[in-house]
Amino acid sequence: MNNHSNPRIVVIGAGPYGLSIAARMAAAGIDFRIFGKPLERWRYQMPKGMFLKSEGCASSLSDPTGRRTLAQYCSDNGIAYGDRTMPVSLDTFTAYALAFQRDLVPAVEDVRVTRVEYSGGNFTVQLGGTEVVNAAGVVVATGLENTSHIPPVLTPLAPELLSHASQHCDLTPFRNKDVTVIGGGQSALEIGALLAEEGAVVRILIRRPWLAWNPRPSGQRRSIYRRLRYPISNLGEGLGLWLYCNAPSLFRHLPDDIRFAKAKSVLGPAGAWWLRDKLDGNLQLLRGHQVNEVHELGGRVRLSVSNEHNDKIELTTDHVIAATGYRYDLRRISFLSESLKSLLETAHSVPLLRSGFEASVPGLYFTGLASAPSFGPGMRFIQGADFTAREVTRHISRSLRRRLPAAVLRTKSPICREA
Ligand SMILES: Cc1cc2nc3c(=O)[nH]c(=O)nc-3n(C[C@H](O)[C@H](O)[C@H](O)COP(=O)(O)OP(=O)(O)OC[C@H]3O[C@@H](n4cnc5c(N)ncnc54)[C@H](O)[C@@H]3O)c2cc1C
Repeated sequence: MNNHSNPRIVVIGAGPYGLSIAARMAAAGIDFRIFGKPLERWRYQMPKGMFLKSEGCASSLSDPTGRRTLAQYCSDNGIAYGDRTMPVSLDTFTAYALAFQRDLVPAVEDVRVTRVEYSGGNFTVQLGGTEVVNAAGVVVATGLENTSHIPPVLTPLAPELLSHASQHCDLTPFRNKDVTVIGGGQSALEIGALLAEEGAVVRILIRRPWLAWNPRPSGQRRSIYRRLRYPISNLGEGLGLWLYCNAPSLFRHLPDDIRFAKAKSVLGPAGAWWLRDKLDGNLQLLRGHQVNEVHELGGRVRLSVSNEHNDKIELTTDHVIAATGYRYDLRRISFLSESLKSLLETAHSVPLLRSGFEASVPGLYFTGLASAPSFGPGMRFIQGADFTAREVTRHISRSLRRRLPAAVLRTKSPICREA
């Protein structure tokens, strides 16, 4: 990696995807710079005490040497590890990923990218200070940044009464408070359990009348039929998951509407198997409950809620946490210039990607959540980082070798396939 001012490639974001791509590009001898605070989301935007939902075998970054896996890190540091039997703590994952960064991507620059412009087949990247960098290619690996979703029914509340789950690292300010969590996925259930451990009075409002749980891995021998019919992959059991995990390049050939529906619904809201015991008796789980209206009342929140029988219930709480997920919307990615966005082929405000994760503007790549509608639901998880890093690196190497780094705009007129 050369740290001169104008590299061939700029990587924006130093999370699991950005670091994986950088590690592979360094091994391939590609000249790049990577910007962002290493593991910022994992260090500052996830609740302390959290455990990962993904199994150990699905929680490694993409390492060109094959040696810097989570399993190896745990073994080297005397940390108990199991591919599918032992939940991975946030502390362990973060320490592992930071060690990966120090060893394989030491030159990460802790600076934010504030603007990306595109002109004449080249990118101009403005950094947080005054520096401007020119590059032939840009990899956007900004993950969940600007994607937090809060349902409109909650938004009338002031920020001191309402927050998104992603805003909390330290839950101690909620000690002895009454907190209502909205949502029925891992994030809602886990933040609820951690709040209860912290001494808050917690209720979780779940819109669906049931709670979905990921099954506990049995470890039992399975029949040949079962192994063929329901193969096990890093994402779970079943043929669909196996394909999303092992053949993500096929996903791109499905029709748009199927891809968008699957990217969102597969591996949807569900609690991890090990979380179940932590919830029992510690908090109130209100299934089939939906918020209809919210009001501020004397510095607290009044929630008008209806249950599955359409009974109306009034609840009062100190604070509402929306654990209501993440939605990618290109319009919210503020550092990309409007003229660059207007050149992108999109559907549902998500860039449509081609082979190698390249957008319709040559030399511009999107990864992580943004790439799930193109390469499948695995891209929403760390699991997808390996495939992404290999593909992006392969594509960039080939483009640079052919000396066509973003030189020609393939899409002369922008195509927009909005819903
Ligand atoms: C609470 C929670 C728990 C999760 N648990 C799991 C799990 O157990 N297993 C799993 O596989 N996935 C989990 N996920 C999903 C997880 O976020 C992704 O798998 C993973 O973080 C994706 O990596 P990424 O690099 O795409 O994004 P991120 O980890 O979000 O990293 C993107 C980085 O880009 C940086 N950035 C953004 N904008 C800029 C800018 N303009 N300039 C410079 N840097 C910028 C950010 O600081 C951030 O560090 C969880 C998500 C949440 C919210």
